[in-house]
Amino acid sequence: MIHEILAVGMLQCNCSVFGDEESREAIVVDPGDGADVARVQSILEKHGLTLKAIVITHAHIDHIGGAAKLKAATGAPVYMNGNDQPLYDHLDTQAGWLGMRTPDRTAIDAPARDGDKLQLGAADFHILHTPGHTQGSISIWIPSENKLVAGDTLFRDSIGRTDLPGGDSRGILTSIHTKLLTLPEDAVVIAGHGASTTIGREKEQNPFLQDR
Ligand SMILES: [Zn+2]
Repeated sequence: MIHEILAVGMLQCNCSVFGDEESREAIVVDPGDGADVARVQSILEKHGLTLKAIVITHAHIDHIGGAAKLKAATGAPVYMNGNDQPLYDHLDTQAGWLGMRTPDRTAIDAPARDGDKLQLGAADFHILHTPGHTQGSISIWIPSENKLVAGDTLFRDSIGRTDLPGGDSRGILTSIHTKLLTLPEDAVVIAGHGASTTIGREKEQNPFLQDR
């Protein structure tokens, strides 16, 4: 499996490009705020990949802002959990917080519900609904790669902030403890920002996860 991680946009969101060597199909998770969509496209081109899905971990502008642009360029459908639709509907408010131009929006083509699966070659991408950072936050578990794309739910040494609209500080802990820390200890966690980690490391060392 091809997997490139690139930090995109003003807030350096980690965008993942997954590609299957056989079918030459790709899934992009979190294209970023829109500023670096051309970089995402150049990675697809470099590997000769056709984009089959754009998956959004949550509707914060630094993750979803580029979805419309990437969809327009590739025709790939956008997957997002419906609980984040209100956030996406107010992308202009989010742009205002950051002092940036409001990116174009697009229709969400498919829900990303807990238990849903996307396929890329032989690999299954399992959607885990992990609300807390936002109500519609999802994480993506790929067992055959032993990788978790955690969005802004779990970071190396930290967890997602819950002080923004839709945030739930108890909810995020419940999501992490019940849906993420139950994964294999050696599973690699690709966080929404910053360095990757493992489930085992965060279980042992993440200061936000030690008191229960
Ligand atoms: Zn976020």
